[in-house]
Formats: sequence, C-alpha cells, structure tokens
Amino acid sequence: MNEDAMIRKRCIALYSGGLDSILAIKVMQEQGIEVVPIFFCTPFFGSDALKAPESFQRVHARKYGIHVRVIDYTDDMIQIVSRPRHGFGRHLNPCIDCKIGMLRRAKQLLGSLNASFVVTGEVLGQRPMSQMRQTMRAIEKESGLEDILLRPLCARNIEETLPERLGIVKRDALWDLQGRGRKIQIERALSYGLGEEDIPTPAGGCLLTDEQIARKLRKTFDRCAPSLPDRVDVMLDVVGRKFVFEDSTVLVVARDEAESNLVSTMGCPGNVFLKTSDVPGPLCIMRGRCTSENLKLAAGICLRYGKARGSTGHVAAYGEDSCNLDLTVESPVFSVEYCRTFQD
Ligand code: SF4
Repeated sequence: MNEDAMIRKRCIALYSGGLDSILAIKVMQEQGIEVVPIFFCTPFFGSDALKAPESFQRVHARKYGIHVRVIDYTDDMIQIVSRPRHGFGRHLNPCIDCKIGMLRRAKQLLGSLNASFVVTGEVLGQRPMSQMRQTMRAIEKESGLEDILLRPLCARNIEETLPERLGIVKRDALWDLQGRGRKIQIERALSYGLGEEDIPTPAGGCLLTDEQIARKLRKTFDRCAPSLPDRVDVMLDVVGRKFVFEDSTVLVVARDEAESNLVSTMGCPGNVFLKTSDVPGPLCIMRGRCTSENLKLAAGICLRYGKARGSTGHVAAYGEDSCNLDLTVESPVFSVEYCRTFQD
C-alpha cells in the first residue's frame, strides 16, 4: 500500500443495516474519516434493497444519517454457495466465504471510490463461524485486505492496522468489545442520538440459515447441475409454496398479498404468471416448459389455493405480464393431497 494514499482519510464500510455496522461507521466519522458505506444484497439477505434500492437508501439516510451504496451480490452468492472453500454453517450459509467475497469486492472498489481501507462492524467472538480471532485473520488474508481491514468495535483487542500505525485513525479512540452482548452497543447508539425505536434488532435475517429455504435451494442446485441456477431460479426458492413437475418445471404459489406482490416482480422470459380468473386467488408463477399439460397442472394447483377450492370447472388466467393475464386455461380443482405430490 502506498502510504501517501492513506492520507485520504477515506474508507469503505461494509454496511449490513445492523447495529454494529452503524456504530462502526459512527466511530470512524467521529474521527473525521470519510466513510463510503456499501450494502450487499441478494434474495437471501437485503431483499428489500434488491427490490427497491432507492427506498432502502432513503430509509437508512433518514434513520441513521447513513448514505449507502447498494450492490447486487446475487451472482457472487450463487457461485459461493455452489462451492464454498470453508464449508457451510448450520444450513446453506457459507459465512466465511460470503464475508471474504464481500471484502474482495470492497477491495476492488477502493481505487474507484478513492478510499484507502475497509471497515466492518465485526466484534471479536460474537459469531462462532466468522468472528473468532483465527478466522478473522484468515478472512483478512484471503480477501487481500491484510493490514487495511479495520474493525473499529473491537480494534483494541486485535492487531494494529496500517491506518492506525500511520495515525490516520486514532487507536485510543477505537473500541475493545468482545463477545455476544449488545448492552454497550445499545448505550452507545443512544449516545449517538439514535432513537430507541430505530435501534435494529439483532441480525438473523439471512435466509440461507433457514432450514426450509436451504432445503429448497439445495434441490434447485441439484436440478440445475452441472450448470448453476440463475438468479431467477433462486428467487423462486425464497417465496411461496413451491411445486416441481416431472420435467423440472417449477410452480410457485404466493401465500398472501405480500408474496403476491413479490411474485409479481419476478417476470422475465421463461416465466408465466397464473391467477384464478373468476374468483379471488393468489398470484402464481411457473418457470420451465410452458406446455398445455404443465399449464393445466399449474392451473389446477393455482385454483386449489384460491377461493375455488372444493369446487370444479374454474378457469385460470395466465400470461407473461402479471398485470395482463390475457390467456386462459381450464382445469379441475385438484385435491390438496394431489397438489402435495408435487410440493418441493
Ligand atoms: S449469515 Fe448469510 S449474509 Fe451473513 S455471512 Fe453468513 S451467508 Fe453471508
């Protein structure tokens, strides 16, 4: 690292929206360091930002005064999940590789963002998989950020970094947190002027740690092998009831209005939307082979989960545009037992 570059007093912060990353940014700003927060999002975490980045940015600017850049990390994550060097956590969460991947992306951005080091909100010993001393060192090395990865919340418990040695960051003003408690963080958040109601609840929103979703995703990876699933395939694993037909065509049925709204954003070539046409029902999406046989099957399942259940002879509307389902298909309403034979 060219030491002149350190004079810029500008860093990139990995921002998760959690309390620790908010505080890490505040600690840096307090020292007069300019911080560029970046937020990585995928369908598994940060899906709000993926769907509506501008509204996400507005909310975080208003609540925390943090002006975040949103980066779509979905394709990276599909690669990582397919073959994590450091393995998985409890379910399909490859936490160490996930962190390394984000830090590598941050490192690549240092030049274009005119920044000299990277900051995270990690706390030594807080997470069993990625925040133990040895692992934190390994992550630094593998991401190529050795000596320029600063963890302000626990910095005084770990080795000094280049920005500290150069006096760009005052080590004395950094923190020495350790372990899983949140009491100190909450006190300090309040002292920074965060409202109690704005303090984020502990993280845990990564869907790769969810048993059901991990199971569906594993099957998707198997079904697509030897290729990797694409982003549309994995998006269908994080919403609704999922059914897979014999030829691997997938049908997802939204379970409520919020899911119907989410499903409506998943239009792309190869996806077909279905909905009961004469009674209220959920929005469904089919991806795969749009044969008349599959459409009938999809319609029968779609009708089952709409208000048509228990009756026969209803019609489902379908089309590629969720707002304009201009074609129809007739099917009997299937029994729930029959539907379940396709459930993934
Ligand atoms: S919990 Fe999810 S987002 Fe967090 S490090 Fe692990 S894989 Fe990445």
